[in-house]
Amino acid sequence: MFNKKIVPIKLRLLLPVGFIIIAVISIITSWFIYTSIKTFNAQMEKNLELEVRTISKMFERESILKLKNVQTNLKVANQLFYDYPLEILNQNIIIDVENQKTGQKHKASIKRWKHNNSDLYGSTYFVDKTQELIGGTISVFQKIDSGFVRVATNVKKADGSRAVGTYIPNNSPVVESIIKGQTYYGRAIVVNEWYTTAYEPIVVDNDIVGIVYVGDKEKDLAELKKILYTLKIGKSGYPFIFDKTGYQLIHPTHEGETWSDSSFLNPIRKANQGIFYYQLDDRDKTIAFTYFEKFELYIGASIISKIENKELINDAIIGASVVGLIAILFLLGFIYYFTTERIYKFIKMLQVSNKKLADAELALKQSEKLATMGQISAGIAHELNNPLGVITMYSNIILDELKEDDPHIKDVKLIVEQADRCKGIVSGLLNFARKNKVKPQEVNIKEFIQRSLESVVIPLNINTQVVIHTHDLIIMIDRDQMMQVFTNLEKNACEAMPQGGELIIEVNGDDKNMVIKISDTGIGIAEENLDKLFTPFFTTKEIGKGTGLGLPLVYGIIKMHRGKIDVNSNADSAAGKTGTTFILTLPRVF
Ligand code: ADP
Ligand code: MG
Repeated sequence: MFNKKIVPIKLRLLLPVGFIIIAVISIITSWFIYTSIKTFNAQMEKNLELEVRTISKMFERESILKLKNVQTNLKVANQLFYDYPLEILNQNIIIDVENQKTGQKHKASIKRWKHNNSDLYGSTYFVDKTQELIGGTISVFQKIDSGFVRVATNVKKADGSRAVGTYIPNNSPVVESIIKGQTYYGRAIVVNEWYTTAYEPIVVDNDIVGIVYVGDKEKDLAELKKILYTLKIGKSGYPFIFDKTGYQLIHPTHEGETWSDSSFLNPIRKANQGIFYYQLDDRDKTIAFTYFEKFELYIGASIISKIENKELINDAIIGASVVGLIAILFLLGFIYYFTTERIYKFIKMLQVSNKKLADAELALKQSEKLATMGQISAGIAHELNNPLGVITMYSNIILDELKEDDPHIKDVKLIVEQADRCKGIVSGLLNFARKNKVKPQEVNIKEFIQRSLESVVIPLNINTQVVIHTHDLIIMIDRDQMMQVFTNLEKNACEAMPQGGELIIEVNGDDKNMVIKISDTGIGIAEENLDKLFTPFFTTKEIGKGTGLGLPLVYGIIKMHRGKIDVNSNADSAAGKTGTTFILTLPRVF
């Protein structure tokens, strides 16, 4: 029953605090997830850019190696060329020549060359043999008016036939170098494709009459594809190669397509490298790119960020949520525990003060009861006083008039005696009723106690002792009323010690109160009677001796003095010495 009332209070207290905790931790958790994803995405983009740079480095290295290779090959080809005897006949041949760039054709005249004792023009022997050794493309050129023409070659035209008759025009950088007697290295368009090339002049009698050429396809797409296809970036990413028109040279799924839309072309035209977002196949791709100038190609790498960070998002959400939840539970538990403690304490305090209030209420009722009793007593006493006076007076007169041997004398004595007893009861009632009015005055407590003891008949077998522990003996009390208190308590004490004993009155006190203990070594008060002591007419004494009005009167007077009366008593000799102590606590100033 107790708990049912507490739980909702605890919950009500917990609810706003709990709500704030949940909100704060949720915000922190969300923020953590958000920044994790942001950091992850930034890292992904960095990785992507690094990837294209790495591929670009790879290309760079490849092209350097290729050039070196071609240089070596040129030496080999040159060596082979001059190993065979070369004979230049004084005969001219008219051949068809074709500008490999413009496609223009015309006739041209060349000297007839015999190489290894057979016609070089259109021969395959030297070039094929050299190719067996070094690979790549090999050509021998002869000088014509408009440039140098291929006379023996394994370079193929678009139709697959050998490119014999195609020529390099005089205005090409190759020819510009060759006619100066220099070897030319570099990139060159050979028929249709870019090659890493090397050209060495053939000099006869100080005349540059031809060229030995070796070359290797620069963009060996098949080889590049092989490498690039194996490169995976994250889960969804891959590298790809495209040119400035958006044409996809190497792409795992879109090879051969041209992405000419501005959202693709604009970013790559703006800078040589960078990163941008592009929608492809309804997916948001992040693309990093870099321009590889030598090949005039772009290296790209793309990922789908959503796929890449999906797992991370899941992990982050689960992880952060678990941590968040634990934090929430921990904090809630913490707060729940502490609020509970506080509330329990608070409720206990309330219970204590409730009990005090209830006690006070009970005491108030008691005093009201006594006050009412006082008033009733006053009425009864006044009513009884006059008839009793008459009975006492006449019975005394009759007693006086009776002779000593009169047989009625015993009965009349009884009437006188009983009438006196009634008078005692009535005067008790009157005193009880009179207690309402207190007339306080300064009294020396030591003298006062002495006086009270003198007015009580104390049997010889009872020792009295007054012990004073306080320096200030002055107290404000109603002398007459307080005298009743003391004499009543002293009388009761004596009556409790029919076999004799000690009557000790002890005075203690502080600035505010005086505490007076009236103790006896008498028979004590049975426990079941303790709470009836102050009830009017409660007495354990035989009829004629006790009225049961002494302690109610004492109680009333003490209360009127704003004091307090307590009883300690032991009636069980088995539990120790028997006896009773009445403790009066009285304010010094009324
Ligand atoms: P009465 O003395 O006329 O019986 P009181 O009101 O003075 O009436 O006391 C009520 C009862 O309280 C007594 O009958 C007695 O049982 C008990 N009592 C009071 N004082 C003492 C005491 N000092 N020792 C033992 N019992 C006492
Ligand atoms: Mg008494």
